[in-house]
Amino acid sequence: MNVDLFGRLSNAFGPPGNEGEPREVLRAELEDFADEVRVDRMGNIFFHHNGEKGRPRVLIDAHTDEVGFIVTYIESTGFLRFSNIGGIVPGVMPGQRIRLKGSKGPLRGVIGVKPPHVMTDEERKSVVPVDKLFIDIGSDSLEKTKEKGCRVGTMGVFDVEFVELGDGYIRGKAFDDRAGCYVMAEAFKALKDSPCNIVAVGAVQEEVGLRGTRTATWQVDPDYALALEGTFAVDMPGVGPADVVTQLRKGPILTIADRGIIVDQGVLQALMDAAEAESIQYQFKKPLMGGTDASAIHLVKGGTPTGVVSVPCRYIHGPASVAHAEDIDNSVRLVEAFVRRISSI
Ligand SMILES: [Zn+2]
Repeated sequence: MNVDLFGRLSNAFGPPGNEGEPREVLRAELEDFADEVRVDRMGNIFFHHNGEKGRPRVLIDAHTDEVGFIVTYIESTGFLRFSNIGGIVPGVMPGQRIRLKGSKGPLRGVIGVKPPHVMTDEERKSVVPVDKLFIDIGSDSLEKTKEKGCRVGTMGVFDVEFVELGDGYIRGKAFDDRAGCYVMAEAFKALKDSPCNIVAVGAVQEEVGLRGTRTATWQVDPDYALALEGTFAVDMPGVGPADVVTQLRKGPILTIADRGIIVDQGVLQALMDAAEAESIQYQFKKPLMGGTDASAIHLVKGGTPTGVVSVPCRYIHGPASVAHAEDIDNSVRLVEAFVRRISSI
């Protein structure tokens, strides 16, 4: 695994609608490998690899945004009220360090939490809803907060640096979906000299309703598509064996059906055949759970046979995820093999 690239993707600041940083990481990595690079008005980035005429056009999509926060109100005392953008449960928020992008540069802060000394018994046991939480950026007035470049609408993300944990394990923020961005980038590079026709898309605003990929797919008008994701692995204490359906070090995860798509039978079969031909272990996501860009992709224009390949990641939509290099490398191999297979090479 290219740890440096994965780390840069994970650390990049990209809440929905603010995907400039991860987009530029992808551009820097892929522009020498692409025949054409383009950014559309939504902020989606497209990397074209032009292969042989007559072969199908294959879209590989990963979303560049991550779950984050938006400032909704500034207290006269300088504290920020905020809301989450994308699914973050309030229980994981108190005490988290936050990085905001102010108009004068990055701002650091922390989601304040009462010390247990002054909590009532009931407060100690309960989860504080997000509208009762606040971010402290080290300011004592509304004016100072504004002076620092923070206003209503300023966005933030969890302030967590990417790190290797040893033995192939990695930890960082935004593995959903920078793991998918990584797999897309490495598969695109691996297919550089192939006769396949590929459009790799870094799509915006997935976490708020699969918005970017709709317009991106409309422009690409692909024959086949794959959504690449970082999805939840649940091999952890407290989850019973019947629920541990996806695990680290068991390979890429294939979707059969989720809340938004019933995966095309031909695409699913090609994914399984590609995995078997390459001796790549894979696992299935528990049916009918979750949703990805594929939900939108397969319904654009006349419809596109679409599949989903996901990297197993623990604790997604929280401050920090844990994943394993083996799964990431095998996801890259699987995507490359699938694109070749579906292109009949
Ligand atoms: Zn995602």
